[in-house]
Amino acid sequence: MSFVDEVNKIDPDHIKECIYSVSDDEVRQVLFKNRFNVNDFHVLISPAASAHIEALAALSKKITLLRFGKTVKLYAPVYISNECVNACSYCGFNINNKIERITLSKDEVLAETEVLYKQGFRHVLLVSGESREKVPVELIAEITKILSKKFAAVSVEVYPMNIQEYEFLSKSGVTGIAVYQETYNRELYAEFHKGPKADFDYRLKTPERTGEAGFREIGIGALIGLSDFRSDMTFVAMHAAYLMKKYWKSQLSISFPRLRRAEGGFAPVHIVSDRELAQVVFALRIVLPDADLVLSTRENPEFRNGMAGIGITRMSAGSKTNPGGYLKAESSLEQFEVADKRLPSEIAEMLISRDLEPVWKDFDPFFIAG
Ligand code: SF4
Repeated sequence: MSFVDEVNKIDPDHIKECIYSVSDDEVRQVLFKNRFNVNDFHVLISPAASAHIEALAALSKKITLLRFGKTVKLYAPVYISNECVNACSYCGFNINNKIERITLSKDEVLAETEVLYKQGFRHVLLVSGESREKVPVELIAEITKILSKKFAAVSVEVYPMNIQEYEFLSKSGVTGIAVYQETYNRELYAEFHKGPKADFDYRLKTPERTGEAGFREIGIGALIGLSDFRSDMTFVAMHAAYLMKKYWKSQLSISFPRLRRAEGGFAPVHIVSDRELAQVVFALRIVLPDADLVLSTRENPEFRNGMAGIGITRMSAGSKTNPGGYLKAESSLEQFEVADKRLPSEIAEMLISRDLEPVWKDFDPFFIAG
């Protein structure tokens, strides 16, 4: 039984109806509970719950402190390539966009990571557009083997793979895989995705293959603004709960990138406000106390400052979202525009000033050696 079977049983319109018909009384009843579960999510994400945002924030902060202490983990992405075989209408790397295509060599990737190592990072995320030809599995394994000697965590966000490929990467030292479903609405998914990525079921089953391969971390997420975000995030919460139960040895992380304008003129279908995005974070934290909630540099400094420690437990810092961005002054096209351009040291200082501890390294292979 896969999560795809669960999704197939659910009518997205019904989910939407449930969320938008929640009453103020229902919200109050949930907020009075001592224990929460994923079935409460649609209530906490509802428009009715928006009126209780302060109570949601207080609860989220309390739970975050209990489960994660005053810590916020830091990581940085390294873009290997902007080549992609897909045509996702919202993305600047879309195969149809006439942009300069760049794929870094192994040495160039290592040189980029060296910059990050010197900045203090011990967790890097290797990212690329979806091109097996330009960024083969073997290259990722080769790079990871080298990086593993210096970095405590090397996670990967590239294209979905089969189980054998994931097992190979796991043995090569990759610690985590992130694959976002973008939207859980099958019809809208078909509208926005062309190319191999258009296979909704294969993509949705990917986190399960990463769980089977035994990665320490599984990352999922949806694009905020592609569809009705309240409905999509309800599916994300269900997906997360499913994976956390089935692959309980793996740490589950959730990202919710808010859509921005991209090369090709794509404008978000739904504009999601800061207040609404904050509600997403609080509701996820309340029903999924152990999930890592990730906020990238897509978001502006003020919003990131405010969310640190009251739900968010992991942040990227000083990110460049174009291949070669850390070393070259002139830049190729970014996958998305970075809104928080502060240096990693400035992010660390900001966290400390808010009585939080920036965590550059939270694991060592020594723990599982032998
Ligand atoms: S979102 Fe990913 S798969 Fe789609 S065009 Fe961009 S890089 Fe390629």
